[in-house]
Amino acid sequence: MDAEQDAHFQLMKRLLVIIPLSTILILSILCVILGVGLYDARRQLRELKEGAVPAMAQDQTLEEGEQSAALYTASGVSEFQRDTSETAEAAAQGDGSRKVYLTFDDGPSSNTGRILDILAEYDVKATFFVVGKTEEKYQSLYKRIVEEGHTLAMHSFSHKYNEIYQSRESYVEDLSKLQEFLYETTGVWCRYCRFPGGSSNTVSRVDMHELIEYLEGQDMTYFDWNVSSGDASSAYISPEAVVRNSTARLSEFQEAIILLHDAADKDSTVQALPALIEKIQEMEDTEIVPITDETEPIHHISNE
Ligand SMILES: [Zn+2]
Repeated sequence: MDAEQDAHFQLMKRLLVIIPLSTILILSILCVILGVGLYDARRQLRELKEGAVPAMAQDQTLEEGEQSAALYTASGVSEFQRDTSETAEAAAQGDGSRKVYLTFDDGPSSNTGRILDILAEYDVKATFFVVGKTEEKYQSLYKRIVEEGHTLAMHSFSHKYNEIYQSRESYVEDLSKLQEFLYETTGVWCRYCRFPGGSSNTVSRVDMHELIEYLEGQDMTYFDWNVSSGDASSAYISPEAVVRNSTARLSEFQEAIILLHDAADKDSTVQALPALIEKIQEMEDTEIVPITDETEPIHHISNE
């Protein structure tokens, strides 16, 4: 091997090392740049979501379906923000008192009677978005809700997401069944409802706007919420956390609709209720009222 050949060989050897090394280096730099970009995009998305759902508790893990309520559509975000700024404006002007709505989903259950007892003790009226339970032991609870001056409202007869959100027809069938059942049981023709998982749920196979349109055509009103107690979580949540989540940002709203649950496994909600009511009643110019025709609905998404 002569000197020229040797130099050529050395150069080739170096190139064989340099080329893969620099390729790895360039790829690494690209990965870092992409990673930072992705992290930033995620952070922005998270901030956007948190901003859009001011009342969602940090430590909250929502149950199936209901968790999607935290994920608003783009239009939902702007709608919600508009509502929030309007209510904040009204609060700043101090025109009238703050209204707080305690709303209980998924009952009646063994906890509903306990909740009704506490509400009676404090002479407070609430709203119950009920499901359909035909067993004899629940009949008196539907009646108690009405007789004791609370608002009886509809959630879903079966509360099975995979059935009710299968098609427009299946949703309508389920809701009509509940409406008729409640009429037979209590004599009340309910016109208020709450979608399981909220109007912004992402489990529905039907466009939620279609269902909203149906409700509007039937002169029914749906209510989402702007404050979440965090009790939808299947994991244990302390009564203190329920109170904290429900009241932490209440003063930001002129009208606050608090999402609570009176299902059988929601003992913390029952335990939290006296302290929650007391804390709200301590707030200046604030009253706890049931949903009526006067209530301005909170909508996570709407047809407007
Ligand atoms: Zn529910």
